[in-house]
Amino acid sequence: MKIAFFSTAAYERDWFIRYQAHHTITFIDEILTEQTSHLASGYEAVCAFVEDDLSKPVLESLRSLGIQLVAMRCVGLDNVDLEAADELGITVLHVPGYSPYSVAEHAVALLMGLVRHIPQAHERVQQGNFSINGLTGQDLHGKTVGVIGTGHIGQAFCQIMLGFGCRVLAFDIKPNQPLLNAGVRYVALPTLLAESDVISLHCPLNAQTRQLLDAPALSQLKPTAIVVNSSRGGLVDTAAVLDALDANALAGYAADVYANEKKWFHRDFSGQPITDDLLNRLRTHPRVLLTAHQGFLTEEALQQIAHRLILQISFFQNSRQEGISKMSM
Ligand code: NAD
Repeated sequence: MKIAFFSTAAYERDWFIRYQAHHTITFIDEILTEQTSHLASGYEAVCAFVEDDLSKPVLESLRSLGIQLVAMRCVGLDNVDLEAADELGITVLHVPGYSPYSVAEHAVALLMGLVRHIPQAHERVQQGNFSINGLTGQDLHGKTVGVIGTGHIGQAFCQIMLGFGCRVLAFDIKPNQPLLNAGVRYVALPTLLAESDVISLHCPLNAQTRQLLDAPALSQLKPTAIVVNSSRGGLVDTAAVLDALDANALAGYAADVYANEKKWFHRDFSGQPITDDLLNRLRTHPRVLLTAHQGFLTEEALQQIAHRLILQISFFQNSRQEGISKMSM
């Protein structure tokens, strides 16, 4: 298939070239928006990522150009209007279950970095300041960790936390039997919020989970609690999180995502004004550790994303060709 590959990043290009098989991929730097959708003209499929816009108007524009397939090189589909895609007859593919360890381990790295003040310690050492005053952290061993969403990534995160010697509570609309067997206890959301020392978010962003951690939910947490968000920025009310931190009603926030990240993440704005007040509050807060959506960024995950997505594209193409040849028999 001829594939228009939007918002190309240098780190993923070689993996897709390696696995592209008989497909022809054109790498496009631009993010997919209503204004750039015309770049898909002459292609059969679009490959897109978390920052791309796949709202109804964009999908309508893609359909009018003859696009039949949208292949998302990610897990979450919160930026795709699936209903509109269905109405327009556009097939949407994604890559669930690619190395869940990439994101789970990044969530742990963020948690450890925040709890043990690693960025501050590194900065001091770089400056020749070897004092450790003010860097007292906490053991995670023996703490209660609440995990919201125990699918691929949540399960991997729970297993790491069990290995740390934590008590793990979980909340999910569909409990995970291997985790139950491993000693994870499923509880109601209010219990998880009230009892956890660490709360880690691993559920998808949808109508039910949007701002799951809003001001009323945050007020149920222990003031010593830490929230880790490696899933989607929209799962929390960012302003409420910052207000809770300022009011000492929350001890820390470690995140790989931000609700308005599309405008900023995965691009270099150094030396330029960052005109997003909420992002500025977040990135400069002393008790926030923020990375710019890089949980998936491991060699293993990139390899699996490219390989599995291309296989699915080939499968889509073969099924379509079989359908056409059956019709002409
Ligand atoms: P998954 O589908 O395997 O697991 C999601 C889990 O959430 C499922 O068990 C599901 O039952 C549960 N869930 C759904 N609705 C819920 C609700 N209302 N309340 C509680 N639980 C609910 O997905 P996954 O592969 O584990 O990925 C989870 C999320 O991680 C993705 O949706 C995406 O937002 C995020 N993600 C982030 C990165 C990153 O780079 N930071 C990369 C991949 C995925």
